[in-house]
Amino acid sequence: MELTFWGAARTVTGSGHFLKTYGRAIMLDCGLFQGSRQIARQMNTEFPIAPASVDAILLSHAHIDHSGNIPYFVNQGFKGAIYATPATTDLTRALLRDSGHIQEKDIEFLNRKLHAKGEQPLPPLYTLDDAERSLAQFRSVYYYRPFSVADGALQAEFLDAGHILGSAFTRMTINENGRQIRLLFSGDVGRKNMPILRDPDPTGEIDCLILESTYGNRRHQPYAGAETLLCESIGRVVGRGGKIVIPAFSMERTQEIVYALNNLWNAGKLPHVPFYVDSPLSVNITEIFRNHPECYDEEIKKVFLTDPDPFGFEGLIYVRDTQTSKSINKLREPCIIISASGMCEAGRILHHLANTISDARNAVFIVGFQAENTLGRRLVEKQPEVKILGDTYKVNAEIVVINSFSAHADSEELREFARQAAASGALKKIFVVHGEETAALALQQTLTADLPNIETVVPKRGETFQL
Ligand SMILES: [Zn+2]
Repeated sequence: MELTFWGAARTVTGSGHFLKTYGRAIMLDCGLFQGSRQIARQMNTEFPIAPASVDAILLSHAHIDHSGNIPYFVNQGFKGAIYATPATTDLTRALLRDSGHIQEKDIEFLNRKLHAKGEQPLPPLYTLDDAERSLAQFRSVYYYRPFSVADGALQAEFLDAGHILGSAFTRMTINENGRQIRLLFSGDVGRKNMPILRDPDPTGEIDCLILESTYGNRRHQPYAGAETLLCESIGRVVGRGGKIVIPAFSMERTQEIVYALNNLWNAGKLPHVPFYVDSPLSVNITEIFRNHPECYDEEIKKVFLTDPDPFGFEGLIYVRDTQTSKSINKLREPCIIISASGMCEAGRILHHLANTISDARNAVFIVGFQAENTLGRRLVEKQPEVKILGDTYKVNAEIVVINSFSAHADSEELREFARQAAASGALKKIFVVHGEETAALALQQTLTADLPNIETVVPKRGETFQL
């Protein structure tokens, strides 16, 4: 069996690796590389194997850095099945449509600039139509149901990764020349005791592990304090007559915040002011969350016994249309607005921030990771002035950072995950992927010290290993 690392090798986005056995090729994830436009274009359009020669894709979860290049791959001739859990299939459908739309808009903007310079226009990476077409190739498979891939070249099974709704570890068994190899691809590893989702499953006995390392060199705060901090901060800001804006990713973070607010509301701890979820994609994704109880943990199942809708409460209003969005923009009385995008780079959140940020009574709650050079990061850094939609605004609003909502295992949790994977004594090799180089190398060092008998490798893009 041959394993070639391609995307998310010594970087975090563009997850995608290739496995060859019995002359068949199987791709693990088909994610979008996100970065500067020119590099992204190159990274997203080059593959070590022609898409037409790939037999199947095994998709770990819906995040766009794991699924977002599927429409391009299909466009380039990939005709095989895309296996994913039912929740991942539904979430990916919503996200790929949204991504197709974004790709079209992005290229329009770029082409206007190229036209002004007298240069040739470029086609989008893919269109909404391409995204729609690729959806026909999805095959949903529930957790814990082994299935056969590429005419039996390998057997696979999805285990719960506890990272986002539907996220999976892909456990594969390959029988080659009388030898059996059990390989587990982690996708992204979740955390224990997070709301809504179950804890990550144990790997069982495996020979080889492909492990993510996003937070390979960092620790998170435990989730336990998040609801209290959220509650106290809302009380303080509303008490002084302020408005609260919460930038949140449409998928997972929005539902986690709504679920936490719902618990606080049920406990009678929230002020009676309007709460808004203002993003059409967030509204659609929340509907998908409601449709997949097979992914829920015991805690949310208990909430369901007394509350028919843990993603809604009296006072919470879901907003799809632009007109209502504009009207809440103008509100001056206390209210809470949850909107996308999560890093304040685009979308309705920009209008809400522009209307809120300069009044000292107001607050912005930062509940997710903010990458460098984003507006969200500038707010975390408490810069005195920021640019929003071309205008400069004084930042007088209070910035509240709540760190404990991360969906990724931190360095200690990844270490514990690797230790349990090694517990049976069968594990021989760990490939560390999906982390900035410093994070991946730091995790390699920790794992080598913890598990000296296991070879831990940080592969480079294009590196091939025989297993
Ligand atoms: Zn992810």
